[in-house]
Amino acid sequence: MIIFASLSDRPAHRGRVVTCCVTLQGRPDNIDCLTPTAALVYGYKAWQGDDRFTGQYQPISQGEYIRGYAGVLKKRGAQVRAFIDSLDPNKDITICCFCPPQAFCHRQLLARWFKSYRPDLVIKLK
Ligand SMILES: [Zn+2]
Repeated sequence: MIIFASLSDRPAHRGRVVTCCVTLQGRPDNIDCLTPTAALVYGYKAWQGDDRFTGQYQPISQGEYIRGYAGVLKKRGAQVRAFIDSLDPNKDITICCFCPPQAFCHRQLLARWFKSYRPDLVIKLK
């Protein structure tokens, strides 16, 4: 089973736990090819009015975030495909980020795309 969950939602985690977070890039358990860019993450937070990022990042809407993230994954196509192809339907893995459960973020987008690319996998979005 492939689970997309918040890093803080520990009861939802199964098997190997990995992340796809800008602030954790380069760490062994961060899947860098699935990590959105700082411009996308912080631009979206700026658009939402988060004081930490307004004025520092070009604000981008949810629609722009979705298109931008799709573009980033497309550019990293070979690495992204290699990661998705490496997933074993018999091994649990939890892919996390810091966003709270149910929040809009790249977990939702990844869950949707993984489902269409690997219909043999059981995918849970928490
Ligand atoms: Zn997130």
